[in-house]
Amino acid sequence: MGNKVHNSFYTPMGLVDVEFLAHGSIHIDWEGMQLYVDPCSTVYDFTDAPKADVILITHAHGGHYDCRAIEKIATPNTTFVVSKGVGTCIDNDLPSLHLNPDDNKYNVDPSTSLENMRKINKLKHCKVDVLKNGDNIASRGLTIYAVPAYNINNKRSNGHPYHIKGEGNGYILDMQGFRMYFAGDTEMIPEMKDIKNIDIAFMPKNEPYTMSDEEFVKAANLIAPKNLFPVHYAEIDPKKLAHETSTGICLYVNGRQY
Ligand code: ZN
Repeated sequence: MGNKVHNSFYTPMGLVDVEFLAHGSIHIDWEGMQLYVDPCSTVYDFTDAPKADVILITHAHGGHYDCRAIEKIATPNTTFVVSKGVGTCIDNDLPSLHLNPDDNKYNVDPSTSLENMRKINKLKHCKVDVLKNGDNIASRGLTIYAVPAYNINNKRSNGHPYHIKGEGNGYILDMQGFRMYFAGDTEMIPEMKDIKNIDIAFMPKNEPYTMSDEEFVKAANLIAPKNLFPVHYAEIDPKKLAHETSTGICLYVNGRQY
């Protein structure tokens, strides 16, 4: 897909091809099944992208829940798995939302609302599963677990966290025992101690919305995935991160292993 770099991994169920597209957008090709996480049209052009079998959406912020990207890759057969916050948006015909720092309520992004309002209707015809933190669902040979993703320390000027506990999800995708963890927008949170046996993790780093380098390294060493893709970052020093993360973790940046 596109000219983006990708990495392949062997699983008991065949080859998994992983592309980190940009920001939180990830494309997975598992023996022809096309999965996307947080496809976002402002960071990647999805015009010629393969149609989606499964789309996971972690939370309702515009860079993660983006109807313009969804419109390009969704079909009536696409299965959506979304967080509670995104489920609320779909129920109310709302496009990607922005959290208003004054009242801590989700507001429609005025620059895209009309266009997206029409496009979001496409979701009405798709199968959408809303998972709360702790829920799981079996679909297309996968088990998808929703896990918490939220901020503890990083807050808006009004004192509310950028990501509120319970609104968004991280996901663990279990493919017959091969496990991928998509952390979503989160800091290092206590629930991470229960995230184990991960083959590939996608974890964010970028302050203030997610984790500092230091926190990213701590969280990575706690979860100890075999393979780790940093996401959501603006700047990255892969050699430094590789040096600080445990030796059992293989770090991937721009297709290269560190
Ligand atoms: Zn966010």
